[in-house]
Amino acid sequence: MLVVMSKQATSEQIDAVVAAIEAKDYTARPIPGGERMAIGILQNKGAVETSYFLELPGVRDVIPVTRPYKLVGREFQPNSTIVQVGDAVIGDGHLTLIAGPCAVESEAQCLNIARKVKQAGAHLFRGGAFKPRTSPYSFQGLGEEGLKILARVREETGLPVVTEALDHEVFDLVEKYADVIQIGARNMQNYSLLRRAGRSHKPVLLKRGMSATIEEWLMAAEYILEAGNTQVILCERGVRTFAHHSRNTLDLSAVSVVLKESHLPVIVDPSHAAGRRDQVIPLSRAAVSVGAHGLMVEVHHAPEEALSDGAQSLYPEQFEVLCGQINAISQVFQP
Ligand code: PEP
Ligand code: MN
Repeated sequence: MLVVMSKQATSEQIDAVVAAIEAKDYTARPIPGGERMAIGILQNKGAVETSYFLELPGVRDVIPVTRPYKLVGREFQPNSTIVQVGDAVIGDGHLTLIAGPCAVESEAQCLNIARKVKQAGAHLFRGGAFKPRTSPYSFQGLGEEGLKILARVREETGLPVVTEALDHEVFDLVEKYADVIQIGARNMQNYSLLRRAGRSHKPVLLKRGMSATIEEWLMAAEYILEAGNTQVILCERGVRTFAHHSRNTLDLSAVSVVLKESHLPVIVDPSHAAGRRDQVIPLSRAAVSVGAHGLMVEVHHAPEEALSDGAQSLYPEQFEVLCGQINAISQVFQP
């Protein structure tokens, strides 16, 4: 349920409503709006007595929240969330580009790519220091050394860095170095990891699981918000289907639905969806057309030598072409 306060409600009246909610053993979540305050009622196991709250001074309305995701949904918070990371802004009205290699391989590799993607227009740098690999024999990432390299990239280029926290064990370490903590597709329903991310003071980029429904994805984000972190960016990265022509199937229909359902920023990763370089630019154009707030793209200066995901990594010159095209598209679709 959502208790909507009248525009004239005083802070004492708001506090009294919060106290009344808590007195019933529910959790109160004040949600400041542009014009008026609303207070969400969470953890209500049974039905909430609407009339009890309606009678409190300053209350304008008490409305049910129909979706299972409360904090993440627009019913609770109609205004879009904007995530600010250093100089980069992610969310409504912005088109934010995250680019970099799949994995951090060396300082020279990262600095080389970072300088090029920055020059082309990237706002954040990506690179995995801990890699989720299908095979235990594949390159697993440089670990803390990789995180230190990312910190060097930030220092040198000014680009904030996005990197994955693969599990609980490395979360604290990743949190120390990263500007945005990525939760990968394979971990989307790792609830203890989501709770840990919810206690972080750093923004979280939450990938959609490769077989997750929109509701499951938004409920995963709900775990993070429920634990206290409101700075969440959703990332569609393709789901597994019967298609063999691409690594995954980029579900852009999910993006337009999520933009309506949730106030959180939504970006698209065309690289892991396509799995092949030649599809990354067309899918990026489509993602921006559908209204995505940004893209996360794998770029490598020498993809044929990359230690992971070389086949889907763009050459820096291709990333430059991509930037030009999507900036033109976003101009056309300015709301
Ligand atoms: C990645 O971004 O490097 C990655 C492993 O992505 P995903 O979790 O979407 O597979
Ligand atoms: Mn990758």
